[in-house]
Amino acid sequence: LFQIKMDPETDSKLRIGFVGAGNMAFGIAKGIMSGGNILPANVNVSAPSNRNLGRFQEMGISVTNSNTEVVCGSDIVFVAVKPHLVRGVLNQISEYITKRHIVVSVAAGVTLATLEELLPENTVVIRLMPNLPCIVQEGALLFARGSHAKPNDAALVRSLLLRCGLVEEGPEAWLDIHTGLSGSGVAFVYLFAEALAEGAVKMGMPSSLAHSIASQTVLGAGQLLRDSGKHPAQLRSEVCTPGGTTIYGLHTLEQGGLRASTMSAVESATERARELG
Ligand code: NAP
Repeated sequence: LFQIKMDPETDSKLRIGFVGAGNMAFGIAKGIMSGGNILPANVNVSAPSNRNLGRFQEMGISVTNSNTEVVCGSDIVFVAVKPHLVRGVLNQISEYITKRHIVVSVAAGVTLATLEELLPENTVVIRLMPNLPCIVQEGALLFARGSHAKPNDAALVRSLLLRCGLVEEGPEAWLDIHTGLSGSGVAFVYLFAEALAEGAVKMGMPSSLAHSIASQTVLGAGQLLRDSGKHPAQLRSEVCTPGGTTIYGLHTLEQGGLRASTMSAVESATERARELG
């Protein structure tokens, strides 16, 4: 297995388990499998009911109602249940966790210290904060390593997750900031997209056309921002013809306090994540 840990990209024998079959597990599973190195036969998923298991089954993934079965059949175990259920789930699976396992928790607010306390001594633990666009392989994922996770464990997890989107590592304290910036940030962008479309509706465009143009505008602006590597202010100034439409609109947004209220939104979401943790 040591060899597997060193060479994840080429080894199709690595077995991946998901405890919890919700949206996050599905998005991550889809990303992991899209690389083609992990075969569906080597992925297991568990949930207490069958209601979410069908879509995994359609991908050829083995499904079960037994969490311990998933743990025993996996090298990397993603804990993808709601945060308040993590304690119960870890108590249940803990005795089946061995030295070969890497436990990756995506539960918001559940700290590495809590995870390590609930698992056997020296368990390799990683805390991962994904966001919803993982489902379309455009997530933003930040992870922090537990005290027994080595750089090669991080490298393995990173290479597994690459197809889910941007994957970065940082200190645990940044995970709550990431929650405000990117977990909740997705909703902030949706609010902006909705407002863009409503502005167009106000000016007389039919709603469905306004919404599809707004979503394409957000997508295109995001892709250009990411792919150009430019600072947003630079791209913004490139769109602004002196005396033109954009600078008039930007002035209106600044008067409305968009910049300050967005900064405050990231701040309050981060503080809320800290409170919940
Ligand atoms: P979700 O869609 O509600 O899914 C939760 C899954 O957990 C369901 O499949 C549920 O089973 C299963 N479950 C419940 N009790 C269980 C148990 N005792 N053992 C095993 N599985 C159990 O939730 P989600 O949105 O995927 O969120 C999962 C985790 O991801 C949460 O901790 C959340 O904090 C974290 N997260 C989510 C997001 C996001 O944007 N959604 C972002 C970052 C982190 P059934 O299928 O039978 O109901």
